[in-house]
Parts: sequence; C-alpha cells; structure tokens
Amino acid sequence: MVTPQTLLPQIFKLSSFQKKVLERMGLKTSYDLLRYFPSRYGSLSPTKSIVLLNVGEEVVLFGKLKNVETKKTFRSKMPISNATLEDTTGEISLVWFNQPYIAKMFGENSLVRVEGKVTDGKKEIYISNPKIEKVGSLPEGVGDSLFGSKDEHSLHPIYSERKSISSNWIYHAIQKILKNIDSNKLEDPIPKEILSKYNLPSLRTALIWIHAPKKQIDADAARKRFAFEEVLYVQLDRAKERFLSNREKSFVINISDKEISSFINTFNFPFTRAQNNALDTILNDLKKGSPMSRLLEGDVGSGKTAVAATASFVAASTHPPGRQSSSLQVAYMAPTEILAGQHFESFIEYFAKYKVNIGLITGSGARKFPSKINKEKSTKISKTQLLKWVANGEIPILIGTHSLIQKTVRFKNLALIIIDEQHRFGVKQRMQLRRKHDLTPHLLSMTATPIPRTLALTIFGDLDLSLLDELPPGRKPVNTRIVLPQEREIVYKELEQILLSGRQAYVICPRVNDPDPDKENTLNAKSVKSEVERLKTKIFKEFKIEGITGKDKPKDKQEKMQRFKNGEIQILVATSVIEVGVNVPNATAILIENAERFGLAQLHQLRGRVLRSSHQAHCFVFTETKSKKTIDRLKSFVSAKNGFELAEADLKERGSGGLSINSRQWGVSDLAMEALRNIKMVEAARLEATLLIQQDFELKKHPELARRVLQRTAVHME
Ligand code: ADP
Ligand code: MG
Repeated sequence: MVTPQTLLPQIFKLSSFQKKVLERMGLKTSYDLLRYFPSRYGSLSPTKSIVLLNVGEEVVLFGKLKNVETKKTFRSKMPISNATLEDTTGEISLVWFNQPYIAKMFGENSLVRVEGKVTDGKKEIYISNPKIEKVGSLPEGVGDSLFGSKDEHSLHPIYSERKSISSNWIYHAIQKILKNIDSNKLEDPIPKEILSKYNLPSLRTALIWIHAPKKQIDADAARKRFAFEEVLYVQLDRAKERFLSNREKSFVINISDKEISSFINTFNFPFTRAQNNALDTILNDLKKGSPMSRLLEGDVGSGKTAVAATASFVAASTHPPGRQSSSLQVAYMAPTEILAGQHFESFIEYFAKYKVNIGLITGSGARKFPSKINKEKSTKISKTQLLKWVANGEIPILIGTHSLIQKTVRFKNLALIIIDEQHRFGVKQRMQLRRKHDLTPHLLSMTATPIPRTLALTIFGDLDLSLLDELPPGRKPVNTRIVLPQEREIVYKELEQILLSGRQAYVICPRVNDPDPDKENTLNAKSVKSEVERLKTKIFKEFKIEGITGKDKPKDKQEKMQRFKNGEIQILVATSVIEVGVNVPNATAILIENAERFGLAQLHQLRGRVLRSSHQAHCFVFTETKSKKTIDRLKSFVSAKNGFELAEADLKERGSGGLSINSRQWGVSDLAMEALRNIKMVEAARLEATLLIQQDFELKKHPELARRVLQRTAVHME
C-alpha cells in the first residue's frame, strides 16, 4: 500500500538522474507528486487518421499498439522503446528514449491515445517520445474517416516537464499512486463543515478531478478547492500572528495634540487628507498598549516619510512609564545605504528645533546628530560609541540599513519600528527586529508597491492596512506617451532638449544582455548592455551614459547611483530593478523600451522614478507591438490616476505575474496566486482562519490541518 509519506523511489524505478531531478522539483513523497498539478488540460492538436499525417504536425492519434519492444543502444546503453501504432487507415512508428516502462505498461494490441509531433525519419515518418495513455475503446470515426474528428476523450492533463521527467511520466505516476494509495491515510486537512459551507470537493475527489477530470467543470472545482486550501494555510499563519500579537504588551505612546500640531507645522506644506487619515489611525494604534502592526501603502511620492517622521516624533517625545528624563526609542530601517542616508538628512531637517538626538548606522559607518561642535550638523562617530548611546537610551531615533538587525544593536526602550520599502525585507528580518524585547515594539511597515487588496490581505494578513491614495497637490502629472517605431527619432530629439536643459534621464530595457541568437524562443527585446553601446556611439554621443542591472555588484550599483545623483551620469540605462525609492529629482525623463513586456504595476513603479520634481516630467513608452489588446493595455497605463487602480487591473489580466512580488518569497504557490483574483475566496479563507484560531489556537481538533500549516511555515521561514 502507498501512503502519502511513501518516498517516490519506493514506488517507481528511477535512474539516479531522475531522482535528482525529482528532488530539485521538490517532489519527494507520493503526496508531493499528488500535489503537482497539471498546468493545463487537453491539447489543441487535432485528432487525425494516420494516412493523413504531415511532417511537423502536432497530432492526437487513436489506435492499436503493435510490435512493442525495448532495446538498449549499443554505445550509450540507453533503453529505447519502439512500437507501431495502427488504425484502419495506416501505421506509424513510435519511439521512446529512456522510458523502458512504456513497453511494460502497454502490451501488444493495447488500445491507446497518442499525442506528439510527426517527424521525418530517414525511411519513414515517426513520432518520438509521444504522450501515451490506454483508452477503453477507440472513438468512433477516427481512422476510418477522411476527416479528423473532434477529440471526445476526457480531458488530458499536461504537466510542466523537466529533462527525464516528462508530462507523460508524471501522469502515469500519479495515476498509479491514486490507484494504490491507502485512502484512510489520505486525510483531508480542510474541516468538513468548511468544505460543505463553500461547496468544495473533498481531498480525494479533488485529486481525481484535477489529475483525470471528465469535465472541465470538475477540474475547475478541484483547482478552486486547492487554491482555497493554500490561501487558508497562509491565513491561518497570519491569524496566529494577529492572535499572539493582540495578547502582547507595548509601550503606550501618547503626547498632547498641541505638541503634535506644532511638529506638523514645521513642514513647509499642509498634510493631504490621506496623510492626515493615516496619521490619525497610527496615533490611535500607538495609544493602545498592545502592539500596532500596520502597513502603510502609498504611491511613490505620496509622502510616507512625513507620516513616519511624525509618528517617530510622538514616540521620541513620550517618556517611558515613571521616567521624566529619558524617552522612548524608534528604529527606522531602509533597504539601502543611500536611502538610509537620505532619511537621516530629512530627519535632521524635521527635528532641527527639537533637540532630539538622531543616529545613523549602516554597513560603512555611523553618524550622530547633532555634532558637539556644530549643533546644526551631524558628525561621524564610531559604531561602538553610537551603540553605547543607543543602549543607554540617549539616542531616541536610530536610522539604518540591515545593520539595525545585528545582535550588537540594543535599545533601552525600543517602542516603534519603522520599515521603509518593506517588500525588500523578508518576514524573518521583520520578526528579528521585533521579537527580542520585553514589550513588543509597534511596527509601521511602508511600501510603495501598489498591492491589490486580496494580496495584501493574504501576504500581509497579519498587518492592518492604511492607504495613502492621494498625491500632494500641485504635482504635475507625468507626461506619458506611447511611442511607435516611426516616432523614435522625434522622441530622441525631444530627449536631447531635455538633457541639454540640464535634466537627466533613465532608459529601461527588459534584458541585461543580448539573447543568444542560436537559441530559439528567447525574448527578442532590448538589453542594457547593447543599448548603452548604441546610445553612446550612435544617438547621444555628447552625453555621459552608464548601464546598471541587478547583476552588478551592490557596491558598483551604489557607486553608479551616487554618480547619477551627483549629475555625473546623464543617462542611466537600467533593467527594471533600478533602486526603489531613490530620489533623483533632477531625473525628469524615463524611456521604457519594449514596454509591452512589463506589467502595468511595474510600469507605474518605473514612472514613479520621475515624479519627484517641480520640473515637467516625461515618460516615453516604446513598443513595437501590433496587438490591439496590448496597445489598449498601455493606453490604460497612460491614463491611470494611481497605482492601485493599475495593480487591480494587472492582477485581473495577468495574475500575479505582473506584480513585482515573488510568490516563492512568500511561500505562496502559483495556484494560490491565481486564487488571489477572487476577493470572495480570500475573504472566506480569512474569516474561517480567524474563527478556527479563536476557537482553538493550536488547531488540536484538526491535527492534519495543524501539520500542514506548520510544514508550510517551516519552508517559508527558511
Ligand atoms: P514616498 O511616499 O515615496 O516615500 P516621500 O515621503 O519621499 O514620498 O515624499 C516625496 C516628496 O513629497 C518629499 O519631497 C516630501 O517633502 C513631499 N511631500 C510630502 N508630503 C507632502 C504634502 N502634503 N504636500 C507637499 N509635498 C509633500
Ligand atoms: Mg519613501
């Protein structure tokens, strides 16, 4: 008997190479394989009569198998299986390399369905490595009609394959497991009441429906069930976090409204409605004494820093209970040195008249404001000295990079943690900063990635959400234009004018290097490397041009960004990974090559790079596409008011693929990502997870569910 835990090599004869490939695919047990779902069903290939076959066609054939045999090649000892497929109109040879089990599984005269590409051999046509499966009977009309008939067979699952592990192999392996598995051991993790409430199939039924469906509806129902299951796991994780966090204690952070208003008045602008709302919610959370966990989502330039600075001010102006001399502390973490430095400078400006000490700690050193000698300026100090002052509470606000998480950094009264561009940090890093204190620090996470609600509710389900869905008034919208191939020259002339007037520009290309011309199917898109060359030698000879990609060393990247910031580079050619959040106000133009290759949310992020200045900004969207659908999509980007609108549109259109979020990073499968298009499903899973955790925190009544959640978390936190 096979159980869910049975290891695959105990069920199947596998070569050592196959074992390795399976392991790399994350498939170790029979359960893993059962959870390897088809990427699609059926085939678009027509069913044909053998007499009508043409070389190069992808076809489905039905017929009887003859002359089945397996030989080893003389030299490589690779097993080769041969057979002849016969229908009433003719015969064709079939050959399988390295799949000796074929001959064993399909005896003489088996009735089969075969799918593959017709190839021209030396003597005759044949099909190599066709997909094959047994059928009970041959469909009527095939083989004896001159017309191909429609494939009436049940849906045929197609799995994503690897070398030596074909879709066909996976199909048969799964069918074998399904036939032999001990159904008592195949426990359904989802409670029965939940299944029936949402009309979802049981685990066993869903497995059959997803791997061998009779109807598309069944396959869809099965997919929906598995998607729900995954979202439920994530939601249970988040519900646990929320539950635990609600029981923890935090510093009560509270000062008078008068003091808060006076701080806000130091900004040379009034807060937007959205900023005021977000700030109110945050200040309310901070008063409660249980930890705040809040995600502040706001488009690039929506003014998150001012909100965060005000929250920092309130914390740094609150005394620890029973103490009048010292104050609570704030840790402010940013993903890069440039950003951390930028925030440090801004904070000095905001806090200038408040006599608050501010520290900066990064990989390359430490600074402190104010300096002893000049009260207006910051000064370089040793890390040891800075950390001493942080530990004894003399530095209320510490800004930094990952260096903030190091063990050597100890706070006396850490009350508030702010994480800027939080999607750049792992969940683990977030926890690390938070978990080592007697009183849990409040957490304010910030991101400029517009995330649709479903995704936010799932991935950041342990966080409450505040949106800054409004830009400060007076921002000139970026002049965005679609550029067709014949307009390229004109746009280059325009860009030249912009550069000559002293501004700078980004050019974004989809690729790092040029594709290998010998390889088929590689993206035929512009690369940073050759675009730098082309622009330098042919188009903008008189300007300083440099390329930057994710492949560069971090140090080189930083150095180039810095030179761009200083104005020493005029055109920065980059992939879409150009540093998030970096503020180069003088860069007012962005050219996006092969724009059709980017998701809407990503295009919006790119455009955000030039939204930071009082000069008119330009975004040129280059495309060579002829597809009306693609042009329409780009048009919606041109006219979109904000990133949230676009993110929702993107999710509907392309699934998670368009989001600059890596599903693996969050331990959410592609299937679950698919489910995120369905807000009802996500809300249902969130509701059920919350109820389950409230009634039974350790899920004692649902051991299988508890086990699966734990397993998932273990992988995800690695
Ligand atoms: P982000 O949300 O992308 O982090 P920032 O906080 O860096 O944005 O703000 C971008 C710019 O907008 C800064 O120069 C900031 O001073 C300015 N700003 C913030 N809030 C307002 C406002 N309410 N009115 C005008 N300008 C503002
Ligand atoms: Mg920012």
